[in-house]
Amino acid sequence: MTRAREEIVALDKRYVWHPYTQMERYIEQADPFVIDRAAGARIWDKSGRSYIDANASWWVAALGHGHPRLVEALTEQARTLAHVALAGTTHEPAALLAEALVARAPRGLTRVFYSDDGSTALEAAIKMALGYQRRRGRPERTRFVSLQGAFHGETLGVTALGGVEVFRRPYAGVLMDVVFVEPPPFGDETGEAASAALERVLDENQDGIAAVVLEPILQGAEGMKIYTPAFLRAARRACDRHDILFVADEVFTGYGRTGPFWAVDHAGVSPDILATAKGFSGGMLPMAATLASDRVFEAFFGPADAAFFYGHSFCGNPLGARVALEVLRVFDDERVLEGIELRAKKIADAFAALGQVEGCRDARAIGMVGAVDLGSGGYLGAAGWRAHEKARELGAYLRPLGDTVYVAPPLNIPLPDLEELLQIVGESVRSALG
Ligand SMILES: *Cc1c(COP(=O)(O)O)cnc(C)c1O
Repeated sequence: MTRAREEIVALDKRYVWHPYTQMERYIEQADPFVIDRAAGARIWDKSGRSYIDANASWWVAALGHGHPRLVEALTEQARTLAHVALAGTTHEPAALLAEALVARAPRGLTRVFYSDDGSTALEAAIKMALGYQRRRGRPERTRFVSLQGAFHGETLGVTALGGVEVFRRPYAGVLMDVVFVEPPPFGDETGEAASAALERVLDENQDGIAAVVLEPILQGAEGMKIYTPAFLRAARRACDRHDILFVADEVFTGYGRTGPFWAVDHAGVSPDILATAKGFSGGMLPMAATLASDRVFEAFFGPADAAFFYGHSFCGNPLGARVALEVLRVFDDERVLEGIELRAKKIADAFAALGQVEGCRDARAIGMVGAVDLGSGGYLGAAGWRAHEKARELGAYLRPLGDTVYVAPPLNIPLPDLEELLQIVGESVRSALG
């Protein structure tokens, strides 16, 4: 690809519609990054300048960009079999990946349903939950419980379960009716009040509720909000009392992002259904999976019309499956989880130091995520964007969530890159506040 930067920007502004972007302002004012290539934790622009990718390109590049083993697996698979429908047919990557995933999964999750991305993995999860309840003779259980500040993706079904106001408001009139519960506030270790409130909701509405859906421990899109594992144990107990399904959205938190392989591991609980995407395919291509227990799976046994009526053109895509299998092998061979410990400590120390800076609130860190809030403008705030601009000057791509400045770099980011990134974050935050 050899076109000049100016030409690319002109074509982009003439034809492309960007996600989450006020395009009128973008067309008038934006000076976008024009990225040419990426490797490891860095992305390079047209002028040859590199930037550390502070958010692993929207949390997907868990093993860094262009990992040679993923590239090799992808090209070899592309030569052999790029796609075939997964209906009455199967293939080696889909079968081997399912085996490897179940071996890694929280106890009791034994079946793997493939889809395209986090949103569709969650959409499959909620349709599974509805089908499960219907097949158990409780068709009136059609409502979901989710958390304030939740984000579960962009299809209309899971938009309803989302509790981030800016994403929800434009569609408010057509969304399913969902019961929202507050997660425990940051720093509340017992989570007793929030757990009691959740239990009350389930006890009082059990006859109408199909499932509780939540992001375990860490709510990403809400602004990297962390809550106590005790809340997950309480949710598990309350669900068990009423045969309400417990759905864990591990799209962001899975694959070591919070330290252990799954965030539910912090609490030692197993969900009935678990959704994984993002790091799942190592940031190489769109691919996702929804894992389910035998109990959920077997509820769909019986007559032909009891089957799970759900699927996508690219279900179980061999390219995605082959790469996702290689991701799991790299996790083992390169001892990725072990490498997180040291990096997590550096992130935690750097953000604890930022917490001392005047104007910074709620400095926090868990695993490979560190975050701090500037100002109080929430998702539409401007202070985070000032830090973003400064970081760009200094050599990092540090896209904020409004006034929340955070890092979620590749899990295997080289230590010198991590140190440089944390340095840049410190300087950018101080500059944004100054
Ligand atoms: C990103 C995300 C999703 C949606 O995934 P997409 O791949 O963007 O569709 C769902 N849940 C969580 C927790 C996420 O972070």
